[in-house]
Amino acid sequence: MSRLESFIRRMTAQRDILDLVCAEVANIEGPVLELGLGNGRTFHHLRERLPGRRIVAFDRALAAHSSSIPEAENLVLGEIRETASRFIGIDAALVHADIGTGYEDRDAVTSTWLPDLTARLLRVGGIAVSGTPLDHPQLQRLPTPPSVPADRYFICRRV
Ligand code: SAM
Repeated sequence: MSRLESFIRRMTAQRDILDLVCAEVANIEGPVLELGLGNGRTFHHLRERLPGRRIVAFDRALAAHSSSIPEAENLVLGEIRETASRFIGIDAALVHADIGTGYEDRDAVTSTWLPDLTARLLRVGGIAVSGTPLDHPQLQRLPTPPSVPADRYFICRRV
């Protein structure tokens, strides 16, 4: 498969998963945390699907399109491992982590800290969506939609 085809599949999977979980998150109280604002495409999608919900976005640096920049109080710049730790206890309804690199060694490092941080950010019953695995005793894996290739995306519920 070409990288272009792989990219299209990844974006389609991301959209389908966010649509699936947003229907449920609409009934769960708490803010949404967007780990990895990037260009802001998924932030923009979440804002459309969850109107009025507080969405706090994190990244090393601001590189989002001007249409997709959160309010200053909801934009947190720096290394997510440190910055998001300050939000532990916020009882998020949804944590969306899009910080995979496609490099196995780098993503393996992310997997050493992201699952525990995610579990601590979510309220019980809250949902996590991630492009890298979220192996953690308090994160129960949920099925992905049929359109999503196996082990491409991970959906979990905080138990
Ligand atoms: N979901 C975004 C969108 O739809 O436009 C794309 C996110 S992009 C794939 C990943 C982003 O996460 C990059 O902007 C990168 O700077 C940021 N990132 C990755 N790892 C990070 C880390 N450990 N701390 C802070 N930012 C990180």
